[in-house]
Amino acid sequence: MGEDRFLRWQVGNVKITRVAELGGAPFPGAFMFPQATPELICRHAWLRPHFANEDGRLFGSIHSFVIESGDRRIIVDTCVGNDKLRSIEAWNRLQGPFLADLAEAGFPAQSIDTVLCTHLHVDHVGWNTRLVKGKWAPTFPNARYLFGRREWEHWTSAAARHNDGDVMGDSVRPIIDAGLAELVEMNHALTSEVRLEPTPGHTPGHVSVRISSRGEEAIITGDLMHHPLQCAEPDLANNFDVDTAAARRTRRDFLSRCSNKPILVLGTHFAPPTGGWVMAAEPAWRFELAPPADDGKP
Ligand SMILES: [Zn+2]
Repeated sequence: MGEDRFLRWQVGNVKITRVAELGGAPFPGAFMFPQATPELICRHAWLRPHFANEDGRLFGSIHSFVIESGDRRIIVDTCVGNDKLRSIEAWNRLQGPFLADLAEAGFPAQSIDTVLCTHLHVDHVGWNTRLVKGKWAPTFPNARYLFGRREWEHWTSAAARHNDGDVMGDSVRPIIDAGLAELVEMNHALTSEVRLEPTPGHTPGHVSVRISSRGEEAIITGDLMHHPLQCAEPDLANNFDVDTAAARRTRRDFLSRCSNKPILVLGTHFAPPTGGWVMAAEPAWRFELAPPADDGKP
């Protein structure tokens, strides 16, 4: 028996497990945020060593979270996927062990009953399907796949500026065609402990996932933030936000709502340790790895 290489959290009765697909290599801040120079990144010393390095480059991650609530097994976001034709070289025709890792973490694909995509970007829908005899087949054959109705309408409208490669054609439409998809509202409740929260801006139908059980709270961000740097620099424009102004409003609103509260924040692209707490640090916030002290003060 090896050491458990998967990050796991317990929130009341709910278990959450992180299974990673890609990450580890430092990248220039400008890949995500045009204004994130090495100098700006170095100014926030608390980002080191987990989220940035001494050279002012960032660490990130592409991973799924599996939520166990009652007898349900919900996978949140499905990464890049194998064999997909993509313009980002590291993602193109990827051949990774994600499904084997998912099984090793305790979740063979057949055991997943719900797939939830926080939005329909390339790195959140990839493992919805896999290549079987030259066709895209549902990876999770026993699951209902939940897509936001607003999000679906956006990406199928003539106005949508495309994603990367044929994301809808290879990773979303095959699920609709197989009859496994459900279009849901942005405040949909999945179980009595797990529900969606609307956090539009990054994309028009973007949602986060709130977990509440026995008085404990966690929230999976989706891409309302991509990196803990945005706690300190909430107004940084992001290369992938559809509506920059709405994304800023949503991010600031989210950070104020979580600030100094015992709400475990699980970042969808945050490098390990991935989970933490938002604390006020004038003039903005900071991402802490320990929860706020429960000292009875307001
Ligand atoms: Zn993403």
